[in-house]
Amino acid sequence: MQDCDYQNTRLTHLGRDTRVSAGFVNVPVCRGSTILADNLEQWAQRKEPDNPYVSYGRFTNPTLQTLTQAVAELEGGFQASLFPSGLAACTHALLGMLEVGDHLLIPDSVYGPVRAFAQQVLASRMGIQVQFYEPSLGEEIASLIRPHTKVVYVESPGSATFEIQDIPAIARCAHAVGAYVLLDNTWATPLFFKPFEHGVDVSIQAATKYLTGHSDALLGVATANERAWPLLRRAAHDFGQTAGPDDAFLALRGMRTLGVRLRQHQASALQIARFLEHHPQVQQVLHPALESHPGHAIWKRDFTGSTGLFGVVLEPLSQAQLSLFFKTLRLFGIGLSWGGFESLALPMDMPKRNGRALFGQGQLLRLHVGLEEPQHLQQDLAQALDAAYALNTSRNTEGLCLVAQQA
Ligand SMILES: *Cc1c(COP(=O)(O)O)cnc(C)c1O
Repeated sequence: MQDCDYQNTRLTHLGRDTRVSAGFVNVPVCRGSTILADNLEQWAQRKEPDNPYVSYGRFTNPTLQTLTQAVAELEGGFQASLFPSGLAACTHALLGMLEVGDHLLIPDSVYGPVRAFAQQVLASRMGIQVQFYEPSLGEEIASLIRPHTKVVYVESPGSATFEIQDIPAIARCAHAVGAYVLLDNTWATPLFFKPFEHGVDVSIQAATKYLTGHSDALLGVATANERAWPLLRRAAHDFGQTAGPDDAFLALRGMRTLGVRLRQHQASALQIARFLEHHPQVQQVLHPALESHPGHAIWKRDFTGSTGLFGVVLEPLSQAQLSLFFKTLRLFGIGLSWGGFESLALPMDMPKRNGRALFGQGQLLRLHVGLEEPQHLQQDLAQALDAAYALNTSRNTEGLCLVAQQA
């Protein structure tokens, strides 16, 4: 808790540099490519690796540097690189660590586009051995690790299915063969999970989500420890990766309120998760801060908080009922992404493991609980569930068939 309080104070004070902001409390948006040197000696200094002065807009500029330093400090890492989206941060961090013939372990619960990249680019086109693993494996992952395993990727909780991973145990196994541990830390943010204290080598933020926090920019940040930084930095430079200063400015602005926003997302999401857990039409709530969650003990051991995104498995319902549920919702929008101020709901395809549906016939939904009054959000879900499941008994013209289904 003390840790969180300290971070809230840091969030207010980090990333201020009155030398470049001419006294303004915020570092302004620096747009541009060319950065002039006063003389040849200064120019030579600028080109030295990791010098504090910047030499070209693609490498960094005061706005971008303010953001990378702020994120690196919060994550507890060495240095950070910016990317134009969260997905670009994930893919380039992987490209930076891997070579032809290397073995890569990726959890089955990984963010869908990263799974697609691993299969379609890394495995099919680059000769990397990609192996998916059950996310709940802890130290048993040792049996999958080979001498040429170069990266063990982790994401906790998993996208869509919300399994919590035992990252310290996985990191011990990975480090035994010198592999790098890459984490997608978007859900917890550096406020609620400290990656480098748990054995991670590169921590990735889709800053599009909570860091920016207002659904008005796309941005990715990857932070490395000292061991992984040369590889991450190389990949960012070799592929010409950078991000726009306007988006970086929006991320910095968003981060000022990250602490208060997350406190509210956390409290509201928990209230709604508990309400849904006791709702008769809900089979299961996938939220790691609930005692019923299979990963709750590890979450409690390693995380200092939970955020606004979680899963709900509804009792089986027809397409017409599902459609009515979404039509009846007034406050939850239907849309991709999350981490903004607004509440969102999406139906998810039933995830499969080894060919078997994870939650049987149930309907998986993903909810992002935004900053609306939680009581209003709860009422919204309650009335939409009532309307959807009432379609069975009262309003359906094929009543007989549905009565049979219910039995
Ligand atoms: C959204 C998301 C990303 C990708 O971020 P974009 O900025 O949309 O590219 C990566 N990982 C996770 C877990 C996400 O939810």
